Amino acid sequence: MVNNKYAIALVGYGGMGHFHAQHLIPNVEDIFLYGIYDIDPAKLEEAKENGYKAFQSFDELCADPAVDIVLVATPNDYHKEYVIGALRAGKAAISEKPVTLCSADLQEMIDAAHETGKLFTVHQNRRWDKDFRIARRIFDEGLLGEVHRIESRVHGSRGIPGDWRGQKQHGGGMVLDWGVHILDQMLQMVPGKVKSVYAHMEHVTNYEVDDGFEIVLHFESGLTALLEVGTSNFINLPRWYILGENGSAVINGFKADGRMVNITNWDNRDAVPVVTAAGLTKTMAPRTKETIHESPLPEAEPDIREYYQNIVAVLRGEAEQIVRHDELMRVMKVMEAAFEADRTGQIVYLNE
Ligand code: NAD
Repeated sequence: MVNNKYAIALVGYGGMGHFHAQHLIPNVEDIFLYGIYDIDPAKLEEAKENGYKAFQSFDELCADPAVDIVLVATPNDYHKEYVIGALRAGKAAISEKPVTLCSADLQEMIDAAHETGKLFTVHQNRRWDKDFRIARRIFDEGLLGEVHRIESRVHGSRGIPGDWRGQKQHGGGMVLDWGVHILDQMLQMVPGKVKSVYAHMEHVTNYEVDDGFEIVLHFESGLTALLEVGTSNFINLPRWYILGENGSAVINGFKADGRMVNITNWDNRDAVPVVTAAGLTKTMAPRTKETIHESPLPEAEPDIREYYQNIVAVLRGEAEQIVRHDELMRVMKVMEAAFEADRTGQIVYLNE
């Protein structure tokens, strides 16, 4: 600690490392960014220019008694060794997502946390996304009645980035990149066990790793969740599409605009058939205005500062960590089932 503030040492001063340094850490009292280690000497120079201690090695970082928390924001394949190294050096450890590449590696990290008694958690920051919080309110408050289907999509049109994200050895691919976010969100939102997983991975611009996917989860409750990421989508589908027994909701993009449409009168079933050139349909005829009601989405104003505030409270022994080991393991197991389903072309049944 320095001046009664918890000192954070960052490993990996790239895109997300800078985001922590500039936007996340400075906004929370009681923590500060103390020092940085990166394998790239230019990043260490930049760290010095920005007023941080530049560690020449990870060992030097671990040997510094002032460091309380090690924050790992390297490519995904290095998370495990740095987290375990930090824990064994007596530091608390925060890993960027994905926590690591497979459940066996995660188990080693959890074991190290138990052996050392030190805090180990993951930056699952998208639990604080506005679109997710709105979806969760719709679900939790039953605004559509009982929900039977949730579709969660993230679409982009830039392909997979040309860096380590396209390389298998570094834990590239969209399942490990965005998949862990949207799986974590879905498992946070929907209670009960996942019965089965089906998945198909896309390889439009990259053959080494998936550059998009669809994963279908069937919950024991009967709810179906579709999770989809695409990187070759020049027209985006809504971020969320939620179907309940009494209505539907759409949430668009990260700005999270959208609407809900609810049934007001189930008994009024009369419909004027829709006639097209080739046929006629009563089933798909639009509802008349007096039987439905359109309303705005509920509000949500999540505060991402809660993430680091929770870390401080845990270190003081005043709270439990928000992002828990069992939650991380569950996401890893579902992710592994998705890879297996893609490989075999079969539905994978889970025994949660
Ligand atoms: P990046 O490529 O921009 O930065 C990675 C940094 O790590 C670079 O500075 C690189 O020099 C350094 N590095 C590489 N190998 C290293 C090693 N062995 N030891 C020390 N430093 C090393 O990548 P990024 O976009 O910043 O992603 C970093 C991590 O953050 C990834 O795990 C990624 O999934 C995660 N991330 C999370 C979010 C989020 O919203 N939570 C967003 C983006 C990235």
